[in-house]
Amino acid sequence: MLDLLVDERDQAFVLYEMLKIDKLCDSPLFAQHSKDLFDMVLNEARKFAVAELAPIASEADRQGCSYDPDKHSVKAPECYHSPYKIFREGEWIAMCDSADVGGQGFPLCLGTAVSELFYAGSFCLYGAAELTHGAAKLIEVFGDNGQKEQFMKKLYSGEWMGTMCLTESNAGSDVGAVKTKAVQNNDGTYSISGTKIFISAGEHDLVENIVHMVLARVEGDPVGSKGISLFIVPKNLVNDDGTPGERNDVFCTGIEHKMGIHGLSTATLNFGDNGKCTGYLLGKQGRGLMEMFHMMNEQRLLVGIEGLAISSTAYLNAVEYTKTRIQGASVSATPGQEGASVPIIQHPDVKRMLLWMKAYVEGCRALTYFTSFCIDNTYISDGKEKKKSQGLVDLLIPVVKAYNTDRSWEITGTAIQCAGGYGYCSDYPFERLARDCKITSIFEGTNGIQAMDLVFRKLARDKLVAFGELISRITKTIEEAKKIEAIVQYANTVQMVKDQLVEIVGYLMSMLKNGKMVDVYAKATPFLEVMGDLALGWMHLWQLSLSYPKLIDLVGVASGEELDQMIDESKEAAFYHGKVLTARYYIGSVLKRSFGKIEQLRSDEFPVLNISDASFAS
Ligand SMILES: Cc1cc2nc3c(=O)[nH]c(=O)nc-3n(C[C@H](O)[C@H](O)[C@H](O)COP(=O)(O)OP(=O)(O)OC[C@H]3O[C@@H](n4cnc5c(N)ncnc54)[C@H](O)[C@@H]3O)c2cc1C
Repeated sequence: MLDLLVDERDQAFVLYEMLKIDKLCDSPLFAQHSKDLFDMVLNEARKFAVAELAPIASEADRQGCSYDPDKHSVKAPECYHSPYKIFREGEWIAMCDSADVGGQGFPLCLGTAVSELFYAGSFCLYGAAELTHGAAKLIEVFGDNGQKEQFMKKLYSGEWMGTMCLTESNAGSDVGAVKTKAVQNNDGTYSISGTKIFISAGEHDLVENIVHMVLARVEGDPVGSKGISLFIVPKNLVNDDGTPGERNDVFCTGIEHKMGIHGLSTATLNFGDNGKCTGYLLGKQGRGLMEMFHMMNEQRLLVGIEGLAISSTAYLNAVEYTKTRIQGASVSATPGQEGASVPIIQHPDVKRMLLWMKAYVEGCRALTYFTSFCIDNTYISDGKEKKKSQGLVDLLIPVVKAYNTDRSWEITGTAIQCAGGYGYCSDYPFERLARDCKITSIFEGTNGIQAMDLVFRKLARDKLVAFGELISRITKTIEEAKKIEAIVQYANTVQMVKDQLVEIVGYLMSMLKNGKMVDVYAKATPFLEVMGDLALGWMHLWQLSLSYPKLIDLVGVASGEELDQMIDESKEAAFYHGKVLTARYYIGSVLKRSFGKIEQLRSDEFPVLNISDASFAS
């Protein structure tokens, strides 16, 4: 079966050659694992994604979910039932969680590589499973023993599934505005009432119970985010023996008709229309939003992985398509001897599109896995090291979420372009991938919200501590790269972008000090973009300083006939040559656009801030 999901060799390169994740097994936390075991897990994940998930993606898109208004029920695409069963039996949901909760304790960076494969196979089905993981984790962290026994285990095993219920018609980006109400009952439970909209996997028939994590305000608590609490609200109440019992008063009143992710229901849920919706307080009253952020941070990284995964499969499908589509004579043939038409991958403009996609996919992959690797490091270190790793995670999550997902919209668009008219039609996966990926820049906090989080919380509130650590890591990579003469010019370019970004950060912080907060709001998204550009420049330079010496070791030269011959004969030589050229292209060409973007950040935002609502359209 054709595997066009995630480049296996590139995954191994990032995991083992860049991050050296096998070294994690030296720490007691991961001592039971080994590289062989990691390879086995990746191999099994790939087999499952290729054999069970990828084949159902377009069928699920066509079938979609169907709503029955009489029963308030939703049918998930029929083709999901069998793969979900296999997925559950494979115990994938808790693969990175501790054995105490039924997990297998693998490092998160390995889990990230697995997630990339699963999302690339079926964004919707795996998306629902990952929400389930987030719900289980919330109960693990904030729940009492009874809640863990009743709900967490069944969520981690995938027997039941979970949701996160924040959004209401008046509370989208402004989560603090939720109006859903909770009134305490005599037995300590709460009666929940209100309506949540846009709830992913809010209703479906894949499992016999759905456990909703609901933000609501206890009657009498203050307005705003400080008055919000978090509740567990199961679709079916739970019997003493742990089986699903009486139907709780939470009903789906409709599902959205939407651009993409047709396999995943997006439900409106009414809580307590009959006055009988039972919820259980999770954690502390009034701390609900803080607690929910635990799930949201995990989900934001996962949404970044979604963006990466869709980009990855769009790119690989484009490579495959352009190798087989014959159109037009080669422009490199001697004039007068053009001859027959060639595969379009041979045309320079098509190669440009493919290399552009490859550069972003591989850069985003490295950055995303690195962020997960930092999370693993927070588990195995303490003191200053732990703090540094946590700082990097907090700083990079909004970048991974927003940058990866904005790129995936561009990459899927470029993949459509590579396939021409066929790319626009549904015989190929390109248009579905484009439709599916757009939501990733919207949910889990829009990308605009991520940019504000980055500038105001992760830079300013942190007093640039984590940013300083990031810059010192980038500087180290630049210094290492400068030891290899042939790549010094690329190290210099990354250094220039880094220095200018540091200057811009200083400029933004001084604007904040001078009370120009509104100006900084207007610059947040362009700033995140440049920070992502630099982060990818760093990743590519890191990869270049590993790949260049390997290429020389393998071939002896970095260009010329000998190299061409080796590339034809050796997959490894082709791989490293590809890495070298991709890094050279990104740093030497794409990254240079950041100088213009930085110039834009230096200019004032007078037009943005001063144009009146009335002047936009007359
Ligand atoms: C398919 C789908 C699945 C979803 N799944 C879930 C789910 O499972 N659970 C859940 O709770 N929600 C879910 N959502 C809701 C999603 O998280 C929200 O749509 C998102 O948070 C944005 O809210 P909104 O749609 O109200 O847009 P708005 O908040 O109205 O935002 C519209 C635009 O205005 C910008 N904006 C808004 N406020 C500000 C501000 N203060 N400063 C600057 N710009 C601002 C935004 O960045 C955006 O560009 C889902 C939505 C969809 C469409």
